This record gives sequence, structure tokens and C-alpha cells, in this order.
Amino acid sequence: MTDATHDPKRRSFVASANGHPDFPIQNLPFGLFSTEEDEPERLGIAIGDSILDLEGVLEAGLFSEEVGDAIDDGSFIEGWNHVLSLGPALRMALRREVSDLLAEGSAHRAALQDLLHAAKDCTLHVPMQIGDYTDFYAGIRHATNVGALFRPDNPLLPNYKHVPIGYHGRASSVVPSGTPLRRPNGQRKPASESEPSFGPSRNLDYELELGIWIGGGNALGAPIRIGNAADHIAGYCLLNDWSARDIQGWEYQPLGPFLAKNFGTTVSPWIVTPEALAPFRIPQPKRPEGDPKPMPYLWDEADQAGGALGLELEVFLLTPGLREKKLAPHRLSQGEASGLYWTPAQLVAHHTCGGCNLRSGDLLGTGTISTAEGFGSLLEITRGGKQPLTLASGETRRFLEDGDEVLLTARARREGFVGIGFGECRGVILPAVSS
Ligand code: MN
Repeated sequence: MTDATHDPKRRSFVASANGHPDFPIQNLPFGLFSTEEDEPERLGIAIGDSILDLEGVLEAGLFSEEVGDAIDDGSFIEGWNHVLSLGPALRMALRREVSDLLAEGSAHRAALQDLLHAAKDCTLHVPMQIGDYTDFYAGIRHATNVGALFRPDNPLLPNYKHVPIGYHGRASSVVPSGTPLRRPNGQRKPASESEPSFGPSRNLDYELELGIWIGGGNALGAPIRIGNAADHIAGYCLLNDWSARDIQGWEYQPLGPFLAKNFGTTVSPWIVTPEALAPFRIPQPKRPEGDPKPMPYLWDEADQAGGALGLELEVFLLTPGLREKKLAPHRLSQGEASGLYWTPAQLVAHHTCGGCNLRSGDLLGTGTISTAEGFGSLLEITRGGKQPLTLASGETRRFLEDGDEVLLTARARREGFVGIGFGECRGVILPAVSS
């Protein structure tokens, strides 16, 4: 499972990488960056505070033929769709070669120095061209907490433990971290009002989720079997599924979320590969006594034994008041990402079991992740807005206000290994356009 690229003794000649909380040489996530406005987007890999320009590495002749050909063909496409469609072997070879190139003692240090860009001077883009985006509901604590707001005695619907619940989302409005987001207008109909009205959402919320990037897809009509599903996952990111709860509450019956979700989804810009995460794989938590065993198409022993991810997730809120008083962001939640009832492989197998074709660049959201110690949305934290939060600035929050910024982070840690992180997933709320 692990190799020289995970060796905790391996260090990089890029000094900022050594001890970097997110991007030490053991991570090497894939991104799409540009250094100046109007410049074409290029494939890059994060190392410490820098980004390595892969097309530059190709031009310098430092890749093997196999990896070089993939980067060359991929450079005509904006994003990682082509390279990652080639599957795990090519992806691993690329990561291994870059790890060797960037390691301390690398013979190519001088040539690579010019190909390293300060990340703070670069713009990061959504790393793949997303054909389709699907959002699941696999966070069982979130599903239970939200269900309990409406059905205290029976929070989970009867299908929940049998079928991975999901809906087809909107790909066009997936934006990279740092993109400001406009509060949506829409139809609202709170219980306290007799008629629906149109205007800015009053109950704007975030959702802490993991994103799953699809590498190689499948042909229409040819399901991805659970045993092969991991081979179709190119990597992971953080995902904020911004949600307008008031719009959602009025529109969602009978077909599910629509405008409550489609105004924006923020992703962290780095694809953290399954290889970088290999040391941090954990068994899928055992289902409680009495829960149904997943159907055979969702069951794989190897997936159960190591198909979940051990990640520490945090959510921070920075408000205009905190900013003005120079106070630290308020930590909304912190905890292990262990509350997912289904593994990423189970989500992929379920998505395709009826024959639906996934394509390289498709994005899946896991569903909101609430942990025993922390909730993944304000809907849960403030109990639907009934118990507002009080911040150190004296401000209170039921839901998000204009000027509020939400930041998601994820870190993987394990004794004997160098920890890695996902980078930031952040977005600030702008006022709605006049309705
Ligand atoms: Mn969601």
C-alpha cells in the first residue's frame, strides 16, 4: 500500500514543503493553475508553498515517456480529465516521478527551480472539467440530526440504510475556493407566512462534505462493480454544498433540491490522490447491530476493510464583526470524518448500478459530514435557526449573513507517517442581486 513516496524520512529541496501542514512531499496533489490573468491554465502539483509546472517539466525532458506522453496529450485540455482518465497506474507513475524529482538530493534541482511558482502569486482553478456533479447524503449523523428536526421519533426514512441516497446536482456553478458567492433569490414560504414570496434567502447555510473526483469512467449500460470502483476514483477534495434552507423547504417536494443548491458549490482546488491518502485508509465502521447488511452489489470485503478515510475536518466562520475586531475565526466544528454510512466505492457502484455512465471529471459529493463532536451545517448547530450562535464579536448567527466567510479544512494524521492536508475550501457571501 505504501512505498518510498510515503517514507517519513523523505524531504524535499523545496524548503517550505518540509513540515508543511498540507503539502509536504508525501502529498503532491494535482491542480490547475495560471500565473497571470489571460494566461492559459496549466497542470501543476503542490509542494510546500510552491506549485510545480508540469508542462515545464515535460519540456525539460524530465518525465518518463509514458508520463510525458500523458501530460503532453493532457496539456491540450483545460484540466486533468485526460491524464486522470488513464487510470491508477499512470497516476501513480506521475506521482512517483515527481516525488523523486522534488526530493532532497535530486539531480534536477537546478532545472526544476525555474518551474516552481509561488502559490500565493498563482490563481487556482477547478482542476477538472466537470461534466456532471452528484451529491449524496451518506453522512448518517447529519441525516439523523436533520431528520430529527422534522420527525423527532423517526429521523431516518425507511430507505436510508438500504440505498445510498443522492440527487443530480449542477456542474456549471461549481467554483474553486476563494470565489465569492452571491446570496440567491428565490421563493420562500416559512410556516409563519401564509403566502410564498420572492427575495433573498434568509436561511443560507453551508454543508461540510468531501468531494470525489472520477478518473476513468464507464460505458453507458456497463455498471462499475464494487470491487473495481476504487480504480475509478482519481482523488478527493473538500466540498461546500451551500444550501438555501428556506428555498429548499418550499421547493423540494416531490422532486428534491433544485434552486436551493444550484447557485454555487465550492471545492478546494487540489485533487488529493488515493496514493497520498493510502496511509490514512481505515476500515468502514461496523454497522450497528440490527442494521441491514448492504446488498451484494454494494458489498466488498476489501472495501469494508480499508475503504474509508481517516480525516480530521474543521469548519471556521469569519464574520464582518470578527474581521473588524481582528478576532480569530470562530470554529464551528471539528471532528473525524467517520460518520459516512457508505464508502466512496459504494457511492460509485450505486451511481452506476443501473447503467449510468460516469465520465472523467465527474464530481460526487459525499453528503454533509457531522461527527459526534461537530455538526456539518448551521441547520444542525442552531437547530434550524432556533438557537442562534453568539460569537466573540458579540454578533449572533442563525444562518449566514452577507460578508460571512466559511472555511473548510481536512488533515490526515497517523503515527509513523507525515501528515497531509487538502488545502483550503473557502467562500464569502455577497449580498443578493436586487430582486
Ligand atoms: Mn449536500
